[in-house]
Amino acid sequence: MEFINENYINSLLENKYKSDAVLQKDAIIKSKECKGLNLEECSALLNIEDDVLLNELFHTAKEIKEKIYGNRLVMFAPLYVTNLCVNNCLYCAFRRDNKELKRKTLTIDEIREEAEYLVSQGHKRILLVAGEHPKKSSMQFIGEAVAEIYKVNHNGNNIRRINVNSAPQSVDNFKILKSFGIGTYQCFQETYHFNSYHKMHPDGPKHDYAWRLFAMDRALQAGIDDVGIGALFGITDYKFETLALLSHAFNLDEKWGIGPHTISVPRLEPAMNAPAAQKPPFAVDDKSFKKLVAVIRLAVPYTGIILSTRERAELRRDLFQVGISQISAGSRTSPGAYKESADSLEEFEMQQFQLGDHRTLDEVVNDCCNLGYLPSFCTACYRSQRTGDRFMELAKTGTIGKICVPNALATFKEYSMDYASEETKKSADLMIQNELNKQTEESRNRINKIVDRVANGERDIFF
Ligand code: SAM
Ligand code: SF4
Repeated sequence: MEFINENYINSLLENKYKSDAVLQKDAIIKSKECKGLNLEECSALLNIEDDVLLNELFHTAKEIKEKIYGNRLVMFAPLYVTNLCVNNCLYCAFRRDNKELKRKTLTIDEIREEAEYLVSQGHKRILLVAGEHPKKSSMQFIGEAVAEIYKVNHNGNNIRRINVNSAPQSVDNFKILKSFGIGTYQCFQETYHFNSYHKMHPDGPKHDYAWRLFAMDRALQAGIDDVGIGALFGITDYKFETLALLSHAFNLDEKWGIGPHTISVPRLEPAMNAPAAQKPPFAVDDKSFKKLVAVIRLAVPYTGIILSTRERAELRRDLFQVGISQISAGSRTSPGAYKESADSLEEFEMQQFQLGDHRTLDEVVNDCCNLGYLPSFCTACYRSQRTGDRFMELAKTGTIGKICVPNALATFKEYSMDYASEETKKSADLMIQNELNKQTEESRNRINKIVDRVANGERDIFF
């Protein structure tokens, strides 16, 4: 576990010579090459307090994100299959000791119904989420759920990529999960700070820090080559947490030649009977949160940075500008909530934490268009075997955009035709036209043909 070196991280953050404005400016200039930064440079950036430099950092994060991922924002929604859990995480409503939570594990039929609802909203990408339970969230059960969701079909529309966020597994269990054809395997360390980790996870299998820390190595060993890491901000000092999270990312890249496919940045939200969520020990304010997202973008330019509906709409809009590339929309965090009527008491009694953005997918899509972002429902990379090091090569060199633009426009045209409200359809069609206008004549003609094929009824065209 020596790659999470607490003494080294603290020494970087405390040494004022390592945080002077010259070093901070040098790091910003270096980051523009899109080759990433080292830990020392990142610590200097996290210590920026000056507003002028901070704005330069934000501006650079936007530039880097656009160089690699353009103005695209990939859309997804979580699907919770069970809220049963044997752990006792002090911040989560699913914790074992929360006797007031109404417990529910969906049947395979109920999971299909939830997926049908998400398809009917226009979603193509799901994050399947589960509490940790030896029977209720076994890899065989999760795998069968994945297989059932892939079968859902609604006029040629379907869920085309299923990522999974579940407890860490053994290599053998990860092999089972892989055999069902999942996209990314996600697991957040929550906090990399050893003592805080043990306090927050007093018992249950999650108490074991190392088992969780090496989950990605076991997943990669099992052949799952897109992995997503993250930290739950608010448990410990955000500067420490960001540097430790980046140490993890660098270590995966060094060891496996595959850095994290995604990095998630959840922040603690209020949750029923979860003491650490009611009063986060190290609450992160919005400005610091924006800074840490920007630093991650400069440090790991190739990674997808995921922002969930935990955050309010206004802050989400602000964070899109500093490097976010994937967002959830129209989410619910309790099992069965999509089918149940929205905002019902039952949903509240079963949910994991409170959300900050309650807008529908259609509202989020329209808002993104109005802000100049292109909502993408693309799932092509994983289905065209561009995973692991093949994806990394394209992302690190910035050539991924050539493939992404036609895929994003084709899937967005599908959304506009099949699911958008009248108002969103207008914004979407304008956005598609603007994107086409940005292309060279040759690629405009090529992409136009693809968009026309979708307009004429073809579905699921991808490259
Ligand atoms: N039970 C598995 C686990 O803990 O790894 C699967 C995922 S858990 C349902 C999803 C994630 O929700 C956790 O990893 C944690 O980061 C996040 N989470 C839990 N409680 C939260 C809260 N109060 N606010 C925000 N995020 C929370
Ligand atoms: Fe269980 Fe995950 Fe919630 Fe912890 S965060 S109580 S492991 S569902």
